Amino acid sequence: MARIVMKFGGTSVANLERIHNVARHVKREVEAGHEVAVVVSAMSGKTNELVGWVQDAPKVTGANSPFYDAREYDAVVASGEQVTSGLLAIALQSMGINARSWQGWQIPIRTDNAHGAARILEIDGSEIIKRMGEGQVAVVAGFQGLGPDNRIATLGRGGSDTSAVAIAAAVKADRCDIYTDVDGVYTTDPRIEPKARRMKKVSFEEMLEMASLGSKVLQVRSVELAMVFKVRTFVRSSFEDPDAPGMGDLLNPPGTLICDEEEIVEQEVVTGIAYAKDEAQISLRRLADRPGVSAAIFGPLAEAHINVDMIVQNTSEDGSKTDMTFTVPSGDVQKALKVLDENKATIGFDVAQSESGLAKVSVIGIGMRSHAGVAALAFKALAEKGINIKAITTSEIKISILIDGAYSELAVRTLHSAYGLDKS
Ligand code: ADP
Ligand code: ASP
Ligand code: MG
Repeated sequence: MARIVMKFGGTSVANLERIHNVARHVKREVEAGHEVAVVVSAMSGKTNELVGWVQDAPKVTGANSPFYDAREYDAVVASGEQVTSGLLAIALQSMGINARSWQGWQIPIRTDNAHGAARILEIDGSEIIKRMGEGQVAVVAGFQGLGPDNRIATLGRGGSDTSAVAIAAAVKADRCDIYTDVDGVYTTDPRIEPKARRMKKVSFEEMLEMASLGSKVLQVRSVELAMVFKVRTFVRSSFEDPDAPGMGDLLNPPGTLICDEEEIVEQEVVTGIAYAKDEAQISLRRLADRPGVSAAIFGPLAEAHINVDMIVQNTSEDGSKTDMTFTVPSGDVQKALKVLDENKATIGFDVAQSESGLAKVSVIGIGMRSHAGVAALAFKALAEKGINIKAITTSEIKISILIDGAYSELAVRTLHSAYGLDKS
């Protein structure tokens, strides 16, 4: 007997037929004698629709401010998961399985106060553990918890992955299975590069980089939690026949295991390519080259919750003036320019120029730590395709390259093949 947390994403619960299929996956594990808790996302497209309504609601009143209250945003967007958790509990019950739905506040899953992007602080797993012991399946609404203000708080887009891993940690599950519409983690997004290969295992560190550099197969925070709490996490497909041979394998289920580096025998130099679209670049021209200037720029941007990513500063020719270039998400450009303009006197620059529609492609691999020439290969491969590089950042295990968004898919495929990741 094992204790398993099973998470099903939006496409896996997209309609009643898909929910029935999910119930069959759950039934398989229950009938094998395991204790099961399930975490569900909203039906695919639902959260986008709810977010759209929240954004439109102030506008229909004729208000000229697009402002909306983040607590009410959470009240609205958390509803998608409430629906699927109830529907799955009903489907399970009608298949003769003892099941009960749980909203975040009922457990409770306690979060901080950052409505819209809250972090889980604590989960009381005792009631779920007790019910599981009595043979009841807990069907938990993902993506939501209860803030310190006693209001629903959501965990940021893709947050049901984090709900699942956090619950797995709280109930000390033997395994957390993230069921999605692909059968594992690939060397790059299989929708962009059909030659991408599925990995049997990927290390926490690499998965963390892939997730934070744009591979949305897992939310970044879920990987952090899996790493810290040593949750044995698999990414696998809900689209396979629930009763196919091997689907119920306890130690080696089909899919990709996220695990410690030491568990991976054959470590490649490069394991994956990630990409993020909708990046924008801002350049401040003729900036004073003096101590404190970076703080004057990035302090106010941070206070405005603008996420600055790549930063490039030129050396000044005469030691007095320089240029500073950095990237922000495209959606934040106007806000960032406004903040910079408000602080122009203290920062001291001539003009701020911006360019949207950029993409960041990243090469990831733990093996880079001990291999030289990895970056040079990326630059050569992109040059051969005529793709211009706008900025570069590197860390021990990744290289990120900023390019024109129109070339993002070509760049992903080019790098994927340059590092020999294509299917052999
Ligand atoms: P869910 O709704 O189940 O949470 P998501 O859409 O959030 O699913 O994540 C699954 C998607 O992630 C896949 O359909 C795939 O297009 C995308 N993806 C991006 N990078 C990768 C990768 N390296 N491996 C697998 N899938 C990836
Ligand atoms: N439904 C939420 C979203 O679309 C959470 C999730 O699916 O993980 O972002
Ligand atoms: Mg997801």
